[in-house]
Amino acid sequence: MQPSDMSAVDLVTAVRQGDLTALRATEVFLERIERLDGQINAFLAVDREGALRTAAAIDAKRKAGKPLGPLAGLPVAVKDALCTSDLPTTCASKMLAGFRPPYDAEVVARLRAADAVIVGKTNMDEFAMGGSNENSAFGPVHNPWDLTRAPGGSSGGSAACVAADMAPVAIGSDTGGSIRQPAGLCGITGLKPTYGRVSRRGLVAFASSLDQIGPMARSAADCALLLETIAGHDPGDATSLDLPVPAYGTDLERPLEGVRIGRVPAHFGAGLDPEVAHAVEEAFAAFRAAGATIIDIDMPHADAGVATYYLVAPCEASSNLARYDGAHYGHRAEPGGHRAEPGGAPASGGGFESALVEMYCRSRAEGFGPEVKRRIMLGTYALSAGYYDAYYAKALKVRRLIRQDYLDAFEKVDLIGGPVSATAAFKLGEKSGDPLAMYLVDLYTVCTNLAGVGGISFPCGFTKGGLPIGFQLQAPALAEPLLLRATDRYQHLTDWHRRRPAIAARPR
Ligand code: GLN
Repeated sequence: MQPSDMSAVDLVTAVRQGDLTALRATEVFLERIERLDGQINAFLAVDREGALRTAAAIDAKRKAGKPLGPLAGLPVAVKDALCTSDLPTTCASKMLAGFRPPYDAEVVARLRAADAVIVGKTNMDEFAMGGSNENSAFGPVHNPWDLTRAPGGSSGGSAACVAADMAPVAIGSDTGGSIRQPAGLCGITGLKPTYGRVSRRGLVAFASSLDQIGPMARSAADCALLLETIAGHDPGDATSLDLPVPAYGTDLERPLEGVRIGRVPAHFGAGLDPEVAHAVEEAFAAFRAAGATIIDIDMPHADAGVATYYLVAPCEASSNLARYDGAHYGHRAEPGGHRAEPGGAPASGGGFESALVEMYCRSRAEGFGPEVKRRIMLGTYALSAGYYDAYYAKALKVRRLIRQDYLDAFEKVDLIGGPVSATAAFKLGEKSGDPLAMYLVDLYTVCTNLAGVGGISFPCGFTKGGLPIGFQLQAPALAEPLLLRATDRYQHLTDWHRRRPAIAARPR
């Protein structure tokens, strides 16, 4: 079997047993990236040399009889929102073009310590703001199932590279759906862990009370493998939970008898594509056949989710993005409009203070793309005196009500099921001119982040046109083992997650 056809679990087993070298596994995926990524644009940087060097070192370690890490030889693609000391970290923004962080994100450090092989950094919406990957300053990602369509976002590069078998697993981040929605639109499995389960240190901050890093892979079992390495307490992130990390891969096979899955009738309202609705209902039927009980529940404040999220997230973003001033790192403009190297003094004219302000303004005007500017303006407005109570403080109150909906629901059910997105992958350009239409794409995913709980998405069917359809499960805080187990049981009954896009087929 080709390494690109193996599950991540089988791949690391084969490397540990000596049936496959880390070098061979890495070469196969690098070759696929070289062959396919010209059409998909999933990668912003590929670390060919570094990956081959790491892989060779892992093989040498094994030969010498030294113990191997749990991900030994596993190629991993990392979203470009995570800091890497040996590769540029741009967040798909001109603002950070060429930036090389002085340290690794905690998640990246854990991947390296587990002997994973980082093959490259993946494309995304600029600063993770978007749902289609069209907000990247370095061109959109193309959905491997149909190159004229969006892969979703903001972790679109991570989703597309796994869907096209350019990496067996990838790391994404999810502030309002950015792991689950692109996973759904690309036909892969993606998990947003409970807030605080995974350290955010070294993740370029978008909205700090919502951001969470998680695994993207072809199956729940592969997500479990990756989560076990990246989860856990980090004293360097005050919001990371100081709790033991379960062995996520060990309890996957326990049957679902007795598990109650909530179904929200309001999810099936106007706007939900009938083909998506049909596939989602079929998935509920499959869960019932697997022993689960399906119970209709109400989430009374869910319809306020998008409005609440689009206040909380931009407010936090406007504060987080204030650091990009052209002085510390990233893009710096000269007052005259010419670009200067970082570290160069701003040109004067009208005194140092006005030159400095001009430099800030120009740097931000040139460095940020339109959606990021829109969010900064929305957030700054909603936080300003006179509007704070009406917008930001109000949004926080609604956020509490949304959270309470989840607490109430989880008194009655163990999981909540439903669609990830109202439609399958949309065309590139279809929504990019209409910010509101793009925000509404997040209808089914933002409440999970507002409540701080976990969610997973995985394929549950295909449209007649051959596009994947996603199913989402949400769970109470720290119930990742149940999310993974329920998805794994579903993936044993069905084979949607095994389908590959035509572009991923090996050349004859
Ligand atoms: N699409 C949402 C947004 O634009 C979610 C993004 C995310 O989760 N990073 O904010």
